[in-house]
Amino acid sequence: MTAPVLLALFLAAVQEPVDILITGGTIVTMDGDMRVVEGGAVAIRGREITAVLSPQDPLPQARQTIHAEGHLVIPGLVNAHGHAAMTLLRGIADDLSLLEWLQNYIFPAESKNVSPEFVYWGTMLAAVEMALGGTTTYADMYYFEEEVARATETVGIRGVLGQSVIGFPAPDYKTPEEALAGAEAFIERFKDHPLIVPSVAPHALYTTPLDIVRKAHALAVKHGVPLQIHAVEPPEENDQMIEKLGKGTIHALDDAGILTKETILHHAIWLSDEDIARIQKGGASTSHNPESNMKTASGLSPVPELLSAGISVGLGTDGAASNNNLDMFEEMDSAAKLHKIMRKDSTAMPAKTVFTMATIGGAKALGLGERIGSLEAGKLADIVLIDIREPSLTPLYDVYSHLVYAIKGSHVDTVLVNGRVIVQGGRVLTVNTEEILEKARAIQEKIIESLEK
Ligand SMILES: [Zn+2]
Repeated sequence: MTAPVLLALFLAAVQEPVDILITGGTIVTMDGDMRVVEGGAVAIRGREITAVLSPQDPLPQARQTIHAEGHLVIPGLVNAHGHAAMTLLRGIADDLSLLEWLQNYIFPAESKNVSPEFVYWGTMLAAVEMALGGTTTYADMYYFEEEVARATETVGIRGVLGQSVIGFPAPDYKTPEEALAGAEAFIERFKDHPLIVPSVAPHALYTTPLDIVRKAHALAVKHGVPLQIHAVEPPEENDQMIEKLGKGTIHALDDAGILTKETILHHAIWLSDEDIARIQKGGASTSHNPESNMKTASGLSPVPELLSAGISVGLGTDGAASNNNLDMFEEMDSAAKLHKIMRKDSTAMPAKTVFTMATIGGAKALGLGERIGSLEAGKLADIVLIDIREPSLTPLYDVYSHLVYAIKGSHVDTVLVNGRVIVQGGRVLTVNTEEILEKARAIQEKIIESLEK
C-alpha cells in the first residue's frame, strides 16, 4: 500500500464516528495516575472505551452524545460480595445474634422458599436496585445460579456468579458432589458470556468439607474462573477449625493450596499477621463488608493491613437481609468511618482508598482488573453519571470526599454497562420495575405463609 492510501485509511479510522460520546462532565478515571479530568470526554465504540479526552482534545464524531455538564463521570461500582436473591428476605428478622438469625429465620425461610422462581425474581429486584445505585458489576454466591445469570443478563449488569457448593442438602443440589458437577456445567455454559463471569462458591470451611473445597478450587483453576468462599466471618470459626482440622481457616486453606489468585475470601475478619502473610504469598484477595459485619456483630476485617501487604480488597454489601440495602455509596461511607472509630484514628481509610476499593480494587479482587474498574481506553464501558447539582452535594471541593461521604445511590442519573445505557434519568430502561416490585410482594406473601405452617 502506498503512503497516501495508508494516510486515507488512517483518516477514515479516525473519522469513523464513535457510538457514544460523554462530554462536559468531571471524569474520575481511577487510572494508574488517578487522573480527574474536568470538562473532558469519554468516547465509546461497541462495548469498549476508545479514549478519555481532555478539554483541549478534538472531539470525534458520535452517533449519540450524552451531555454530562454538572455530573461526575465515574467507573461503575463493583460490589464484591453478596447474595442477590436475598433481597426477598430484606428485613425478615433483624437485631438477633448471627446464629439465631441464621438458624431460626434465614435457613427456615430459605429451605421452604428458595426455588428457581424465587432466585430469578429476587435477583431481578437486586439487579435493578444495584443498577439504580451505580453498581455495574457484582459478585454473587447462591443457589440455582443459572436463574441468577438469566436475571442479571435481563437487567443488563455484569455478574461474577458463584454456584454454591455446601456440605449439606441445598435447595438446588442434594449433595456437594452434585453441586460441583452443577458448578462445572454452569461454568462451561457461561464461560464466554459478555456479561457473566461464572464462578464456583464453596460456602465456607465450617459448612463444607475441606476436600470438597479443594475440588472446587481445582475446578476454578482448570477453567480459569474465580473461587469465592466465606472465610473467618464468625468469631468462633477459627476455634472450630482448629478442633476439626488442627489449624485455623486460612492456615488450612493455605496448606490445601487454595489461597491462589483465583480465590476471593469474603469477610476475612479474624486474621493473624501470619494469615495475612499467607494470603499475600498465595495471591488470593478479600472482600470487606462493613455494614453486614456491623449488623451481625461479626467483627472488623483488618483492611489497612491487608492493603499495605499489597492484597487486593474489594468492598461488598453482602446479602440485603444483613445490610439491609445494596447501596455501595452507603457501604463506602460506613467503611471509611468504621475503621476510624475502631482505631481511634481519623486518618485511617481515607476517601480515596475507599473509593479505590469500590472500583478498581474490587475489579482486581474479582480477577477483572484488566477489563473494568477504571475509565481508560481499551476497558469495557461500564460508566456511571452522578448529578451533583443538588443541595446535599454543593459545594464540591474534592471528588473523592463527595463520592464517599456525601453521594448516595439515589443521586445516580445514568448508567452504562458494556457501552449500553441501562439507566437514564434515574430510571431503569431494560425492565419493567413495577412488575418486579409486584412479584417481590407476591413472593413475600408466600414466605410469610410458609413460616406460619
Ligand atoms: Zn455472604
